[in-house]
Amino acid sequence: MRFSKILPAFFAFLLVSALAYGQKAPKLVVGIVIDQMRYDYLYRFQGDMSETGFKRLLREGNVIHDGHYAYVPTLTAPGHSCVYTGTGPALNGIIGNNWYSRPENRVVYCAEDSTANTVGSGSVNGKMSPRRLTSTTLADQLELATNRRSKTIGISLKDRGAIMPVGYLADGAYWYDGSNGYFITSDYYRKSLPDWVNKFNDRKLPDQFLDQPWTTLLPLDRYDETLPDDQPKERPFLNTEKPVFPYDLKRITSVQRFGVGESRYGILMSSPYGNSLTLEMAKAAIEGEQLGQDSITDLLAVSFSSTDYIGHQFGPQSVEIQDIYLRLDLTLSNLFQYLDSKIGLNNVLIFLTADHAAADVPGYISPPAGYFKAGDFEEGLRQHLVKKFKKDPVESFINEQIYFSKPLSVDKDKLEAEVRAYAAGFPGVYGIIPLDDFGKCITDPSVCEKIRKGVMPDRSGDLYVQLYPGWIASYYEKGGTTHGSPYAYDTHVPIIFFGWEVRHADNRQRVWVEDIAPTVCDMLHLTRPSGCTGAVIPGVLFRG
Ligand SMILES: [Zn+2]
Repeated sequence: MRFSKILPAFFAFLLVSALAYGQKAPKLVVGIVIDQMRYDYLYRFQGDMSETGFKRLLREGNVIHDGHYAYVPTLTAPGHSCVYTGTGPALNGIIGNNWYSRPENRVVYCAEDSTANTVGSGSVNGKMSPRRLTSTTLADQLELATNRRSKTIGISLKDRGAIMPVGYLADGAYWYDGSNGYFITSDYYRKSLPDWVNKFNDRKLPDQFLDQPWTTLLPLDRYDETLPDDQPKERPFLNTEKPVFPYDLKRITSVQRFGVGESRYGILMSSPYGNSLTLEMAKAAIEGEQLGQDSITDLLAVSFSSTDYIGHQFGPQSVEIQDIYLRLDLTLSNLFQYLDSKIGLNNVLIFLTADHAAADVPGYISPPAGYFKAGDFEEGLRQHLVKKFKKDPVESFINEQIYFSKPLSVDKDKLEAEVRAYAAGFPGVYGIIPLDDFGKCITDPSVCEKIRKGVMPDRSGDLYVQLYPGWIASYYEKGGTTHGSPYAYDTHVPIIFFGWEVRHADNRQRVWVEDIAPTVCDMLHLTRPSGCTGAVIPGVLFRG
């Protein structure tokens, strides 16, 4: 080619390179998902927080105050999937942590994969893959855009918290094996652990953490945003009488009462040290994979899960939850300082959100809240239908969804009418909503919309049992709380962007969590994930 022809081509190449990989892209995207973080925690515990963790995010970040999930069920795997696919279960396929699979005739787990093998330990906890996810993720699109030159890594204590964010093309997804204390992966991603993961496992940090007691970070009398420590609606650890500080983890983990596949290492997840371990693993990944060290944008998806275990066990009014958020504040501060020293915060785009929030403990506000006895509901429903139809048409009841055996052996309208007749008056049941006919969804339209966005026809049940606001599973009658509903206490989560070219602002418009992925795609000039239905959130960057 003659020089006069090469020159324009050369400049065109430069232009394309600058757009794709030039100064106008961050070197690293860090997605932080806090498991079970309610929006109010940003403010409730602020009086005792540092200036360099959550308060720094609020001071310098682009803060979305009315961020919600747009679907039900608000659970961990759907949440992580939504953040990174930019859509809900209807299109990303992750309709629960577990759901009933008609083809397999059993309840399946979102990440289970019998064809995959554990890498990094002898347990079965690595037999996982993203194969049930039906959309690409933000990480996949980054890999495609850079011809796989980006490094994309997912890290979480929970396998689903590591796998669903990065999806199919990631360089690695690593999660904690509660049976032995190692970080592991699946041979879906890699044939062997990288050196840096082996070295990390060799440090045996879980043993060091479990040798320490869990005491309150501050003197107990400083915890006046939550109830006094000893509460009947909190669940004690194994081998302890009361749910009160200090927790002697050495003693708690020394009991020989663990079930099959469990070990003392599992308890680590239900202490703040689970988050400390996750932080150290994230730092090891940044170091080991050299994340953010060249001009091609990398992605680290890190999920802090101990907040969820502690939320379930003790609830939002507990000293325990306040303590873990005060400690998480320091963990985040540490992570921001680390990123600043290694890469420079102006080169790192950070977003923080949660996979779902959580209900207030019904025991503290009953009525109007209460405990729904799902087991009794199902048993009574089956008996009622057998009486009416001489056979049991129910195949499964999970995630508040009733699955009928197909093909239906009884008249569909009559069956629905009998389910309604049975459910009317059952404590906690608001109504029955057919999942194949939203014209018959008789409740607040925004709730109908959330249910609809959670349905994938091949995977979902036939009828949804809507509970009254504030009602949760009766398992928690002993203490603690849960999540999963279409109501604001479960859908309302923090969404904050920080670092790189992020403009400080307080956004009080309604924003959906599925808008996070397209917003990041817009910043990086990426194609949206294949199922993406979210929209770009305006005003996050200085450049508009
Ligand atoms: Zn949970």
